[in-house]
Amino acid sequence: MKLYNSLTREKQVFAPIDPSHIRIYACGPTVYNYAHSCKARMAVVFELLARVLKTLYPRVTYASNITDIDDRIMEAALESGEDISSITQKYTKIYNDDMASLGAAMPDIQPKATEHLPEMISLMENLIAKGHAYEAMGHVLFHVPSDPSYGVLSGRSRDEQIAGARVEISPFKKDPADFVLWKPSTPDQPGWDSPWGRGRPGWHIECSAMVEKHLGLPFDIHGGGADLKFPHHENEIAQSCCAHGTQNDPSSFAKFWVHNGFVTVNGEKMSKSLGNFTLAHDLIKTHKGEVLRLTLLGAHYRQPLDWSDEAIHQSQKQLDGFYSQLHALENVAPSKEDVPTDILEALYDDLNTPLAVSRIHTLIKDETSKEALKGKLLAVGKLLGILQEDPAKWLGYGQDVAGIDGAEIESLLQKRAEAKTAKDFALADSIRKKLDNMGIAIEDTPQGPKWKKK
Ligand SMILES: [Zn+2]
Repeated sequence: MKLYNSLTREKQVFAPIDPSHIRIYACGPTVYNYAHSCKARMAVVFELLARVLKTLYPRVTYASNITDIDDRIMEAALESGEDISSITQKYTKIYNDDMASLGAAMPDIQPKATEHLPEMISLMENLIAKGHAYEAMGHVLFHVPSDPSYGVLSGRSRDEQIAGARVEISPFKKDPADFVLWKPSTPDQPGWDSPWGRGRPGWHIECSAMVEKHLGLPFDIHGGGADLKFPHHENEIAQSCCAHGTQNDPSSFAKFWVHNGFVTVNGEKMSKSLGNFTLAHDLIKTHKGEVLRLTLLGAHYRQPLDWSDEAIHQSQKQLDGFYSQLHALENVAPSKEDVPTDILEALYDDLNTPLAVSRIHTLIKDETSKEALKGKLLAVGKLLGILQEDPAKWLGYGQDVAGIDGAEIESLLQKRAEAKTAKDFALADSIRKKLDNMGIAIEDTPQGPKWKKK
């Protein structure tokens, strides 16, 4: 398999650290609100990457965290009057439910920041002992100039690093690019006891601590949205490498850095000020999760993804077409098939999902054996997390729809069948006409007639 590695800025052959166990980590959501669509894309992309790697390696562990302590969560708690843990539990569940609707299975490990305070504190103590971090008035700061490799992932210059670092606590900083590992909490703020007093962790330190605990270092693939490259991922590398004295080798943390692109809406970047802030949580209410999943996979993961009505409509049409194929093959026993090689090859080439999907169309066009076509469609659908529904149900056959009484239709169809058996074709035709006027389409199949709303 080949993957584009943001650390080396090239597509590289994926060489596992230990082929008997592949380890992947991706930065998950901060749970104080509905997840941004970029997070939904991250969840779908990295869970699919884990599935694809499972076709090559016997064991793949995929970890993705939940950030359940953060100043934005504290603000949300102040605003709503709810306590922090009820907010974080509520939005963790919503996030997991929404991602399940998009067909993304739970990560194998979903560590929570608040359950890893001892690991974070010991990492900070280690960084202080090695001269890479220092305490200042209840804060612990990472000293950026102590890391010769700092900036290696993002390629940011020192000026850009300073501009990107938070400024509000600058009086304590030895260097303007230094970033916060720990900050003090007031008595009414959530906090944990530490060697530097009662306080709470900054965001970056949690991933370094949790990935080391759950996956071990170095590990194979670190993923996340492209927006996290700086400062978050840069800081993770700095913390973890400096803590282990390997700051001259940034790949001693994660070997591969994989970043998914932004999500745009009708060609524009999503922002609250533009009023085009689209959440997966809202889209799931009006579209089938599988349609949204195919839309997410319809663009290459590194390219921007446009959440346009047109793209969603195209995905719906494609899935309707695939399901129609499966519906036409309803009485065919599928032969046992693997995912076709050319589709796997597309996925092994930097997870090229648009190419893989286009090759499903080619498969439908070229495969002459019905048994093999059905078997292959089901196999590729399983891998991509699509086409697992009952085709008749997907296409709306036999479903109660507003204004239509399914029992009445079944009874008319029964009368029509009886009329046909009795060779009363005039009656059979008149029943069909009646159903037609009711807006019902009938399809006669070897198992009997099927109906759906036209
Ligand atoms: Zn992270």
